Amino acid sequence: MTNALKVAVLPGDGIGNEVTPAAIAVVERAIAVTGGPGLFTETLTAGAQAYLDTGTALSDEVKRAAEAADAIYLGAMGLPAVRYADGTEITPQIDLRFLFDLYAGVRPTRAIPGVPTPLADPRAADIDFVLVRESTEGLFASLGKGVVENDAVARDFQVITRATTEKVSRFTFDLAARRAAARPGHAAKVTLIDKANVFASFAFMRKVFDEVASTYEGIAAERLYVDASTLTFVGKPWTFDTIVTENMFGDILSDLAAALVGGMGYAPSADIGDAHAVFQPAHGSAPDIMGTGKANPTAAILSGAMMVEWLAERHDIAAYADAARLINRAVDAAFAGGGLLTCELGGSAGMRQVTDAVLAAIDAPA
Ligand code: ATP
Ligand code: MG
Repeated sequence: MTNALKVAVLPGDGIGNEVTPAAIAVVERAIAVTGGPGLFTETLTAGAQAYLDTGTALSDEVKRAAEAADAIYLGAMGLPAVRYADGTEITPQIDLRFLFDLYAGVRPTRAIPGVPTPLADPRAADIDFVLVRESTEGLFASLGKGVVENDAVARDFQVITRATTEKVSRFTFDLAARRAAARPGHAAKVTLIDKANVFASFAFMRKVFDEVASTYEGIAAERLYVDASTLTFVGKPWTFDTIVTENMFGDILSDLAAALVGGMGYAPSADIGDAHAVFQPAHGSAPDIMGTGKANPTAAILSGAMMVEWLAERHDIAAYADAARLINRAVDAAFAGGGLLTCELGGSAGMRQVTDAVLAAIDAPA
């Protein structure tokens, strides 16, 4: 008998406060329907508004509570108008990646039937890949350490380590194996995206990736230069399966990937380490639409499904795996037929309509 698992919930700023309750409600409903043990949720305050109110964006108390929880769910953090005294942005969501060594930024990209894609090719309906963004080094290792010398030259730097490259590569191959196991007839493939032809750090990354790849029999490994990869992202993204790439490249390519399947409102994500994981929609706090009811909760809801799936595996709870599948199926059912068109795609469906449609699909008999 498992004790109730605890989720630290950090709604954060802007539309994070709107999509988070919707996602948690969907998760709790799906767990109730599949008969899983109820989650214990603890809501914590962090982000730009917290900084304004208390002088701290991510307090030690919140860090401790997040560390003690079985999973962390985050809405969105940061507000363009609120900055630290040195002018830098308030990004506790990035601080958490370094704090808990969340090296694998997992960004699934799946075409939802009924949600328009910008690609005319009918094979766009088959888009279903996962991009794993290394999230603790790469160019982001320079975060807070870049320098402007004498107002004449600015420098940032990139760090690629063997240890992290091995870990994130293994993570991606293991993910590819799990995806193949869940999809009969599906051939697992891992694509490394780098710029090994120009930079020593990327050549090293590719060498370490190749070493890891050679230990996985039965999973194809391919390597693409980042410039060439953009042609595949737009020209035939349905040929991707799992992708692993450096932090900055992953930052850019995951937004490109989101655009293929409807935009930021459809892009879930997870930042996963060996001991902790943060689940959050890939979008930001979107202050331009906050309070209007236009925020699309789909990305937040799908991030909730990723959380339940991760908890299912770690704690071996079959009902949670069922709940994750139920949420994904309910999202598909909500959008099926194309009648639910969200605001960012020119329609009028917002927070309420999408959340209600997903909840109704969860309750509908299978
Ligand atoms: P961050 O720096 O945190 O990545 P950002 O500056 O990239 O944030 P977002 O907050 O992600 O910006 O918003 C980018 C655009 O996408 C905005 O115009 C916003 O309105 C839109 N957007 C983001 N999330 C959603 C959503 N869930 N539903 C609808 N539109 C969204
Ligand atoms: Mg962004």
